[in-house]
Amino acid sequence: QLANIGVIGMAVMGSNLARNLAHHGHRVAVFNRTTARTDEMIAAHGSEGDFRPAAELADFVASLERPRRIIIMVKAGGPTDATIDALIPLLEPGDIVVDGGNAFFEDTRRREEKLRGAGLHFVGAGISGGEVGALEGPSIMPGGSKESYAALGPILESIAAQVDGEPCCTYIGTDGAGHFVKMVHNGIEYADMQFIGEAYELLKGLGLSHTEMADVFATWNTGDLDSYLIEITSEVLRKVDAATGKPLVEVIVDAAGMKGTGTWTVQSALNLGTPVSAIAEAVFARAISSSPDLRAASQAALAGPSGAIAVDDRAAFIDQIRQALWASKVVAYAQGLDEIRMGAADYGWDINVGEVAKIWRGGCIIRAKLLERIRSEYAAGSLTTLLEAPSVAKELAASQDAWRAVVAAAVTAGVPVPGFSSALAHYDQARAPRLNAALTQGLRDYFGAHTYRRVDKEGTFHTNWSTDGAEVRED
Ligand code: NDP
Repeated sequence: QLANIGVIGMAVMGSNLARNLAHHGHRVAVFNRTTARTDEMIAAHGSEGDFRPAAELADFVASLERPRRIIIMVKAGGPTDATIDALIPLLEPGDIVVDGGNAFFEDTRRREEKLRGAGLHFVGAGISGGEVGALEGPSIMPGGSKESYAALGPILESIAAQVDGEPCCTYIGTDGAGHFVKMVHNGIEYADMQFIGEAYELLKGLGLSHTEMADVFATWNTGDLDSYLIEITSEVLRKVDAATGKPLVEVIVDAAGMKGTGTWTVQSALNLGTPVSAIAEAVFARAISSSPDLRAASQAALAGPSGAIAVDDRAAFIDQIRQALWASKVVAYAQGLDEIRMGAADYGWDINVGEVAKIWRGGCIIRAKLLERIRSEYAAGSLTTLLEAPSVAKELAASQDAWRAVVAAAVTAGVPVPGFSSALAHYDQARAPRLNAALTQGLRDYFGAHTYRRVDKEGTFHTNWSTDGAEVRED
């Protein structure tokens, strides 16, 4: 009996995915450009299931039943294209090629078009959960033809994380839809981590020890904030460095790295004109952290308060930080889901946003109790934005006093909270009956004759600012 699925790329993600597939009873063909890596995987894990290793790509392809289902898990970018190009001549119409790497969705669109032209299905599948998720059950976001999902979906669903008996994998939409959704997932992850970082700095400003902070996060993890990232924050804060005896976070260089998915999320949002300000602030916060020259020059020049926060009731303020974190998180998720809605409209994808929330409930890095709320809110009725969902709006209203108090205290104390404050600004902008954009339009008309519309009548208008001051209708 031929293999029913194949995996190319036996680095950490591909080998763990292949093992996960084998653990679920699939017959897994495996291949890696460098055969030694395949041999190592089989030597270490070959007994875990039914693997069919191949040293040659042609043998790998020949070992698969039709339509062939092949998951590529190699380095994103050129290596993915090289692998696809090597595969194409070996495949037959109807075969399905899946890219499970972190591809930019525009690349996925390009590859899908190319393979479609050759009679092949190309599926861009976002896979979240890191190496442990790949092995034990990731969240999978596949995009491609519906026809290919019929042949591929059941296999992916069998290895995905399961929540309430439902797989964290669903058909997302055509061509790049899956990788687009995975990209936004990562953008939300950036924001989530930035908010956690701001809460940490505020708790530090209050004078809490790292153990106390770890306890605070552990307590938060039992409530509305219950999530993977809050859970591991508690563990990271509790970790003591063996070499120095200090909390580990105090000896880690405060320069955050990034691989680009957060930047893509913001760039794509800028192209779409959809506001993801909290996600953008999270990307910029990493950027300033990794700008040593700018920071060193500014540290020497700029004055300001020390970051110490004085409050009468410490416990009450800690609870306000919790509320600010929760409210900001809701805004970041809303912004990300708004970007998905806008992207779907622009690229012609029929994405069910509630289903996206559903498959993020398990397996992925942003898994959180909040996602069940989001899923049920979207299931209850059509939403333009998460912020309008009645129960969400009600809780944001209940949290806003605390949120404002935390941002105000942070600003006064000199603790940078770009995430909390931009999320709050988004909340205030979104609910405002009128925005200062009216003045912007007036200014644009003054210096560039860019025209404006009026609230009281139809049409496009221009004021003759530099001559008689009269208003003229332009259309
Ligand atoms: P790497 O990104 O480190 O890539 C290594 C693999 O790519 C090896 O199998 C390597 O083969 C292969 N490769 C490199 N260049 C070429 C080439 N020119 N032609 C063919 N194969 C090539 O592996 P990971 O397992 O970390 O990640 C795989 C994919 O999964 C990436 O796209 C990554 O972004 C994505 N991903 C990773 C996550 C993670 O937590 N690591 C999480 C989610 C997604 P060889 O052994 O011959 O060099």
